Amino acid sequence: MAPTRRGPAPRLIFGDLWPFDPAPETADPKLADRYQLFIGGRYVRPRSGQYFDSINPATERRLASIPRAGAADVNAAYAAATAAFRRWSVLPGRERGKYLFRIARLLQDRAREFAVAETLDGGKPIKESRDFDVPMAAAHFFYHAGWADKLEYAAPGRTLRPLGVVGQVIPWNFPLLMLAWKLAPALALGNCVVLKPAETTSITALKFAGILEDAGLPPGVVNLVTGAGETGAWVMGHPAAAKVAFTGSTEVGKAIMRQLAGTDRRMTMELGGKAANIVFDDAPLDQAVEGIVNGIFFNQGHVCCAGSRLLVQEGVAARVIAKLKNRMRMLRVGDPLDKNTDLGAINSAAQLATIRRLVAAGEREGAELWQPEGRLPAQGYFFPPTLLTGVTQSHRVAREEIFGPVLSVLTFRTVDEAIEKANNTAYGLSAGVWTDKGSRILRLSTELKAGVVWANTFNRFDPSSPFGGYKESGFGREGGRQGLLDYAARA
Ligand code: NAD
Repeated sequence: MAPTRRGPAPRLIFGDLWPFDPAPETADPKLADRYQLFIGGRYVRPRSGQYFDSINPATERRLASIPRAGAADVNAAYAAATAAFRRWSVLPGRERGKYLFRIARLLQDRAREFAVAETLDGGKPIKESRDFDVPMAAAHFFYHAGWADKLEYAAPGRTLRPLGVVGQVIPWNFPLLMLAWKLAPALALGNCVVLKPAETTSITALKFAGILEDAGLPPGVVNLVTGAGETGAWVMGHPAAAKVAFTGSTEVGKAIMRQLAGTDRRMTMELGGKAANIVFDDAPLDQAVEGIVNGIFFNQGHVCCAGSRLLVQEGVAARVIAKLKNRMRMLRVGDPLDKNTDLGAINSAAQLATIRRLVAAGEREGAELWQPEGRLPAQGYFFPPTLLTGVTQSHRVAREEIFGPVLSVLTFRTVDEAIEKANNTAYGLSAGVWTDKGSRILRLSTELKAGVVWANTFNRFDPSSPFGGYKESGFGREGGRQGLLDYAARA
């Protein structure tokens, strides 16, 4: 029977049908009380003498002190990287590859410890740090280790040369994974790096310094400086940087581009997104619902490529929404360290305030809010999985990146309308298409203005697959051959 002729799915009531005993992950994250900067292969105190606290967003308790690097620290990091570049850049690729393989293996060896540290510091569920962040970070080092001695095949006819010292700034949503995306290709090509993690999630980057030491990486090849936006601006604006690579918000990306306008600095910008996840009436609806849930609730929706706009074809809209609500009733929100948890804590009080502000704006503009019943933990920054229906294209919740577990639902009638609505955004990072028709997938994958288009799946990543945006989602690619070439000098 055609799905369009069926009525809406019945409401399922789960109540306390499936009680879950607590299943906390207990591995020791081996946290220090106070971290230091990692410059020239040594742990150094910030010359500013200043530290700030990293907070566990699930408990609001302090985890560790993080150094606030000043301009003098950033200068020292660039000096160390510049000195290291002379030897690192001329090392045979197979030698550089050995270091990358070692880093990947050491990370795998300490995967549980890093997963717990990532979850404590960032609030993401342990099953995601354990099964996604840490293994994918290791996979990026393995992948680029493989390239290091085969660079002549990455660009046939060209001799790939490193650029020099690269400045890198990353966000808080995938701290260790974004570090791997940035470091691995830069090092494979023979560049040296000054990297700044986000201020709310610096711990795994600073723990990673220990892995670099254990791998015997020559001093100065990777330098880690911590701090907030001001430190980031020094890293991005430093005259010794041959290239800057930034992942973060479009707003800050634009500020960096203004800062560097008129210089010959190479740039990669991985910025925000507002992806459309498009469900046609011939789609396998139960699978699509799983893809919708994964697309928006993975990592509490703190995902640049999150499927935050659901475009559903009118004939199946009621049915999809009913199924979605049933599925959302089953999501477990709570302790990120519990292996049963689906949605952990929002990364910071500031991000929670942003989510609340945008959801309130959505309601004011006429969207209808739905959240499953259930109590949130009393302590910590939590927000329930949220559905906004009746959203139109002019609503803020259809245009602005919420970066939280909030799905805005719009409907469409024809393929042309779906394409037009999906492309009606300042962003262009990713999109999803759910349909039975291969020809339709091919058409949408060419007409949707997005760096990645997933078909009958969502949020699939692989180190060999380039990732990046169009329009205000940025430029340059990370991953794959394309990402590697972004770290090579122009022929
Ligand atoms: P953010 O822009 O506020 O901060 C990102 C980083 O930039 C942090 O390390 C921060 O300290 C630093 N920073 C802040 N001001 C700076 C300045 N003036 N100069 C230099 N650095 C500065 O973003 P966020 O809130 O940490 O991260 C969320 C954003 O990141 C979202 O918009 C998300 O879409 C985007 N993101 C994009 C990708 C991608 O691949 N396209 C991946 C992950 C996250």
